[in-house]
Amino acid sequence: MIQLKEIFKSYNSGKNRFDALKGINLSFRNSEFAAILGPSGSGKTTLLNVIGGLDHYDKGDLIIDQISTKDYSDRDWDSYRNHTVGFIFQNYNLIPHQTILANVEMALTIAGISSKERKEKAAEALRRVGLADQMNRRPAQLSGGQMQRVAIARALVNNPSIILADEPTGALDSKTSVQVMELIKEVAKDHLVIMVTHNPELAEKYATRIITLKDGRITDDSNPVELKETAEQLTSRNMGHASMKLRTAFSLSFHNLWSKRKRTILTAFAGSIGIIGIALILSLSSGVNGYIASMEENMAYAYPLLVDTVSLDFTSALEDLDMLTTTPESDHVEVISFVDRIRTMLGTNDLSTFKSWLDSGNHDLTDYGIVEYMYSVQPQIYLEYGDSVRCVCPDSTLDATGLPLSSVDSSMFSSQISTNMFSCMPQHEELYKGTYEVKAGHWPENANECVLVLTGDGKIVDYLLYVLGMRDPAELDQMIQSFLHGEFKGSKKTETPVYNYSDFLGRSFKIVNSSDYYVYHGDSNLWIDNKGDPDYLMQLVKDGSDLEIVGVVKPMNQFGTGSLNAGICYPYSLLESTIQYASESRIVKEQLASPEVNVFTGLPFAEAGSVDRLNLGSMITVDMEKLREAIRLNEDALISAF
Ligand code: ADP
Ligand code: MG
Repeated sequence: MIQLKEIFKSYNSGKNRFDALKGINLSFRNSEFAAILGPSGSGKTTLLNVIGGLDHYDKGDLIIDQISTKDYSDRDWDSYRNHTVGFIFQNYNLIPHQTILANVEMALTIAGISSKERKEKAAEALRRVGLADQMNRRPAQLSGGQMQRVAIARALVNNPSIILADEPTGALDSKTSVQVMELIKEVAKDHLVIMVTHNPELAEKYATRIITLKDGRITDDSNPVELKETAEQLTSRNMGHASMKLRTAFSLSFHNLWSKRKRTILTAFAGSIGIIGIALILSLSSGVNGYIASMEENMAYAYPLLVDTVSLDFTSALEDLDMLTTTPESDHVEVISFVDRIRTMLGTNDLSTFKSWLDSGNHDLTDYGIVEYMYSVQPQIYLEYGDSVRCVCPDSTLDATGLPLSSVDSSMFSSQISTNMFSCMPQHEELYKGTYEVKAGHWPENANECVLVLTGDGKIVDYLLYVLGMRDPAELDQMIQSFLHGEFKGSKKTETPVYNYSDFLGRSFKIVNSSDYYVYHGDSNLWIDNKGDPDYLMQLVKDGSDLEIVGVVKPMNQFGTGSLNAGICYPYSLLESTIQYASESRIVKEQLASPEVNVFTGLPFAEAGSVDRLNLGSMITVDMEKLREAIRLNEDALISAF
C-alpha cells in the first residue's frame, strides 16, 4: 500500500522556486485503477514520478507498505523502481533497433535470471497483451497501439505490484485508446494502476477512482481510501534487492532520463568540449548509463560508454540546468556553485573488480553491444628525420613550454589540446569499418600497419605534418624556443599546402620497445636508463620495427564523430604486442620477481630516496661558473623589471 503524507516538491529555476506539489495527502489501494486528471502543468507527472521514485520529494513522506522512505538509500530506491513499479509512458520509449521481444526481455535483465527464463517470461508478457505473433518485429513495424501494448508488457514483465502510466493514450487515436484502456483495466484487477490522463471521458469510463489535481493540490477524489480500509490493505511485501547495482543502472534507462531536453544537452555538451570519438564518460555510479541504451546504434558507436578510472558524472551537472538561465537582478550577491558541482561530478571506479566481473561472463552486457578494454600503454613511436630521430609518441614537443598540455589521451579534457597524434583503434572492426570511408589504401592488416584518420571534413591538422616528417620538426622546436624567450612575433605565416591521399601512403615510423631503453650493468647489478644516450637511441630506433601508413580514412559522418581519433591510428594488435614484449622482457621479469626492490636503484621502493644510503653529495658537482652566470642573469632580469 502506498501512502503520501504532506508531500511537497518544488523546482528551482534560477532564483525562482516553483512549487509543483503543495502538500499532497493520498493513499492507494493495493489494486485499483486510479486516474489522475488535471490541466497541463498541474503537477500530474511530478506526482507520478514521486510515487515511482523517479523524482524525490522535498518534504513529507511516501510510505510504502508501512515503511517510510525518508531514510531510503539509493539502493532502496533502485530496488523499489525495479521490483515494485512498472512504468508506461506516452511515447512508449521502446528501443528502435531491437525486436519487441528483446525490448521486453531487456527490462528483465535486472532481476539476474537466465536467458532462457527471460525469453519465456518476456514471451508470456507479450502473449498477455495479445502480441504473441509479433514478437520478432521491431517497434517501427508496429502501430501506435501495438507499441503501447509492448510497453505495457514491458512494465508487467517484472511482475511489479504498481503500474504507473503517464498519458499512455496521449499519442493514440480514440479507437486504439479504447483497446489500450481495456488492457490497462484488465491489469488493474490485480495491480495498483495509477494513470495520468487529460481525457476525462476515458478516466470516467475505465478508472475506478478519479483524483483531480490543480496547481499542485488535490481538488477532488472520487473514491478516497477510508481509515478502516487502511488496516486491511496493509500487507507486507518483499521488495527484493537488485542483484547488481550496475544492472539497476542499466535498467533505469526504461524509466528515467528519457527527456529530450537532457538528451540534447548531453550530446551538445559532449560536442562542445571537443571530444572526438569517445565523447561520453559516464560514471558507473549513476543511472545515466541507461542513456546509452536509448540511443540509436550508430550513435552508440560514436559515443561509446566509456568506463574510466576517474569518471565525470554529467547527470549531476545537468540536474541543475538553471545555471544556464539568467535570473532577474536582485540587490544581494548570489553565489553560483561551481566548485561544488565539479566535486559532485567526480567519482572513481574500481576497474579491477569491474573487469573481473566482465571476465566472469556473469552478465548480459554483450547483448547490448561490444565490450572492449583499453590499457594506458603507448607504443614508443619514432620518426627518422634526416640523420636524427624524434619520439612522436608519446609526444614531448610542447613539454618545454610548461603548458599543461597532455600528451596522453586519457583525460577527456586534454584530448582536444593533446599533441599526441597517435591512438589505438578498437579491437573489433565492427566499431569502425562501417563508419569510415577508405579514401586510399586499406585498413591495417597487421601490427606494423596504421592508418591516417582525417577529420569529418577531410582535413589534417598542420601539427601532423611535423610528426610525419613532411615539415622539419626542428622548425617546431625553434618556434617553441622563440616563444619561450618571448621572441614569438607570429611573423611569417607558413603557407598551408594541399596534399593528395597518396602523399601519405607508405610513410613510416619506427617502433621501439620501452624495455629496450634499459641496459643491465653487471658490476652494479642495476638497470640503467640509456634513453638519453643519442647514439644508443639512434641504433635502437634503427633496429626498431616499422609502422607504415597503409590507408587514409575519413569519417562518413560529417561531424567527424566515430570511434577513431583524427591523426594516426594503429591497430589494437600493436598495443597487444607492446604489452606482450614488455611482459617478456628481462627487466620486467626481474622487477616482478622482486617487487620490493627497485631494479634501478637496488633499494627497497620505500627507501629509494633515502639520503643516508645514497650519498647524493658524491653524485653532484656544482659548476660555480654556471651558477654565477645564472645568478647574474637573474639580477639583470630583476633590474630591468624595476
Ligand atoms: P503536468 O504533468 O500536470 O502537466 P508537471 O508535473 O509536468 O505537470 O509539472 C508541474 C509544474 O512543474 C509545471 O509548471 C512545470 O513547468 C514544473 N516542472 C516540472 N518539471 C520541472 C523541472 N524539472 N524543472 C523545473 N520545473 C519543472
Ligand atoms: Mg505531464
